[in-house]
Amino acid sequence: MWTLVLNSGSSSLKFALIDPASGETHLSGLAERLGAEAASLRLDSGGKRQTHALHGGSYAEAMRLVLNELDTLGLRSEVWAIGHRVVHGGSRFSSPASITPEVLDAIRECVPLAPLHNPASIAGIEAAMNAFPGLPQVAVFDTSFHQTLPEVAYRYAVPEEWFRQHGVRRYGFHGISHAFVAGEAARMLDRPLADLNLITAHLGNGCSVCAVSAGRSVDTSMGLTPLEGLVMGTRSGNVDPGLHDYLARVSGLTLTQITAALNRESGFLALSGLTNDMRELEEAAARGHVGARLAADIFVYRLAQGIASMAVALGRVDGLVFTGGIGENSATVRAATLARLPFLGLKLDESANSAAVRGQGGPISAPDSLPALVVNTNEEWMIARETAEILTKVAG
Ligand code: ADP
Repeated sequence: MWTLVLNSGSSSLKFALIDPASGETHLSGLAERLGAEAASLRLDSGGKRQTHALHGGSYAEAMRLVLNELDTLGLRSEVWAIGHRVVHGGSRFSSPASITPEVLDAIRECVPLAPLHNPASIAGIEAAMNAFPGLPQVAVFDTSFHQTLPEVAYRYAVPEEWFRQHGVRRYGFHGISHAFVAGEAARMLDRPLADLNLITAHLGNGCSVCAVSAGRSVDTSMGLTPLEGLVMGTRSGNVDPGLHDYLARVSGLTLTQITAALNRESGFLALSGLTNDMRELEEAAARGHVGARLAADIFVYRLAQGIASMAVALGRVDGLVFTGGIGENSATVRAATLARLPFLGLKLDESANSAAVRGQGGPISAPDSLPALVVNTNEEWMIARETAEILTKVAG
């Protein structure tokens, strides 16, 4: 039996048909620029790729084509459940939830916390409910893994009323990936997850680090929103909270404009003046581009600081895990990061580090080092597994 995993973005829909037990993927694809004339759908199945124009099509139109493809492959009746990635579950969801009208309302209540992401998830859930009436649907949250953070890690030192009335606290994101790679790392280290204190670094377009103790998140670098913490492709990461007021006064920019710039015009893009893409950044830095070099250096410096701060949460560290597009592919970032952390007992094995490329994770540290590993993340498989797990539980 297959689980259909859906990841709905503000104008995109990523999907994959996955066997929760093995992670085998049968059909996958991406609908992009939904709502615009240029909307399109890519379907990958059995080594073949098809592309369809959607001409302003919505989630519903994309879902209809996915359904058609399932019919063509004779797989519609084999889909037993749908698992949705939902970015923000607030304090309400500490685990995946079988979707009921009440759960959908609670996801709606989290919209102020994730005004771009949660409406997209809701649109994706509604489109899937219409396309697959009667099929169980499950919401798997990016935040729920971090609901185990202790109060010292999740509270900000701000007026209590902000916390009580408006939910101003640290939530953390990328939880699906941090949880998945921590489990995989335990397998690679051949030790029970319950005995391990791991630091996981998810480095993609968004970046965060997480302290995972016995399989539970005890701290992470992202906070109320996915803007806190590390430097990212277009996001600033940490800035002085006084920046907003200062900049509004001296530049006349509104709060909305400042927030948009911190999310979309900052990070590697701002520092390099060139690109938000790490691969391009590394190529430009190698050619001597000064801004690209600075962006890469600041990224690594702040990443190493983030990793060191996770060590404080753990007390004892048993391993460091790199994942995400940058973590899995950039030997340069990994080497530079380890070079800043000798006090954690980290020593690089240069040839293992160069050999670890996407699709082939593994150890990158010297024999006498604290273990450092590359683990390929698979959020879709994690969502399929969590979906199967909760439905089995619900079924009794
Ligand atoms: P998302 O967070 O959107 O899922 P990914 O996890 O795919 O994105 O990560 C995208 C990032 O990974 C980009 O900055 C990209 O440049 C970087 N990346 C991918 N391949 C490489 C590579 N070979 N070397 C350096 N960076 C890479």
